[in-house]
Amino acid sequence: MSQGLSPNLQHLETSATIAISQEAKRRRAAGEDVIDLGAGEPDFPTPSIPADAGVRAIREGKTHYPANEGILELRAAAAKHLSLLSGGRPVNADHVVISNGSKQSLFNVCFSLFGPGDVVAIPAPAWVSYPQIVHLTRARPVLVPGDPEWSLKVGVRDLERVVPGAQGLILCSPCNPTGGVYTHAEIKAIAQWAVERKVWVITDEIYRRIHYGPGPAPSFLDLPDELLERVVVIYGVSKAYAMTGWRIGIALAPGKIAKAMAALQSHTTTGANHPAQFAAAAALGDERVEQDVMRMVAEFRKRRDLVVGRFRRDLPGVEFVDPLGAFYFFFRVDSLGGSSGTEFCTRLITESGVALVPGSAFGDDRYVRLSYAAATGDIERALEKIVGFAKKLGD
Ligand code: PMP
Ligand code: GLU
Repeated sequence: MSQGLSPNLQHLETSATIAISQEAKRRRAAGEDVIDLGAGEPDFPTPSIPADAGVRAIREGKTHYPANEGILELRAAAAKHLSLLSGGRPVNADHVVISNGSKQSLFNVCFSLFGPGDVVAIPAPAWVSYPQIVHLTRARPVLVPGDPEWSLKVGVRDLERVVPGAQGLILCSPCNPTGGVYTHAEIKAIAQWAVERKVWVITDEIYRRIHYGPGPAPSFLDLPDELLERVVVIYGVSKAYAMTGWRIGIALAPGKIAKAMAALQSHTTTGANHPAQFAAAAALGDERVEQDVMRMVAEFRKRRDLVVGRFRRDLPGVEFVDPLGAFYFFFRVDSLGGSSGTEFCTRLITESGVALVPGSAFGDDRYVRLSYAAATGDIERALEKIVGFAKKLGD
């Protein structure tokens, strides 16, 4: 960042995932044929039940300032929903805070918990915004490299080795950018370590419903209460409910932290978009919307199979993480003529018209991320181009 700006912004860079989507849009507007598999944004319309509830809320005049911590209807719906996903465990609606997107929820929790001198562990590869958000608190993010033999996940041994004195840990499962999913036993082991070490765990479970195993992905909320005293769960409607533009995020935090997060946003955004909160409450509280979610997840699964099948068949030497959740495919490009992720993506968009995100955005530039949250026809066309380009590089 340029001189003259506050030291608060000394590490700030624009989000690479967002910058790549904008670049794809700019090229398209200039007449280029660009397929965007960069952005992680469902291509489905918002299901009609939440969409109608949002419109109705506007018509009914729910257009004034909302309750600071979120409307009761949504906090109750979120608590009930999270409870149902974890076998009916009690979830206290008073501990739910609604924000303008889970990105803001993440910012609020990090800003409430961390500050100068603190270290926050982030398993890598990691979604681009985690280190940036930690930097904004003036704490220090430390990337903990995931094990390539283990879907790039980390275990207690990795955490002990790299960050024994961390104050916080941000874990993402199902993972953006890898599609890897932590098992119940893996989550439990990390939770036990965090309790022993008095580490705050921020568990980003926004992709929990987009899981290709049985039921929702394993969650910290499946653990007993004594392992949850320092755990903040981040959830949201953007991904599974195709509601990215409504900007609603959900956090479930211990009471004191929930209060701090609400107080913080009372001075920044006042609260989350009021009518959008009614839309989100309708999404989480209606069995018919669950059918919509299942249909979308089934479609994501088909697209995942398409991508995996094509790579296995046509690029058998290219390693990738087995995608078990979310809608990302993370593959290694350094075997292709020694290319870095950045070179691969820069040349791919220019020479073949496909936008992907280089692994540098996530802390490992040996890889590239492909988002299959896009129309099947676009994925098929893009795969044709990616395979052709990769073969050319590998020759
Ligand atoms: N966490 C992860 C891992 C994400 O991929 C995203 C997507 N932008 C978010 C949080 C934020 O989502 P939103 O702010 O739209 O709720
Ligand atoms: N989370 C999505 C992605 O990783 C959307 C863009 C963003 O917010 O980073 O592509």
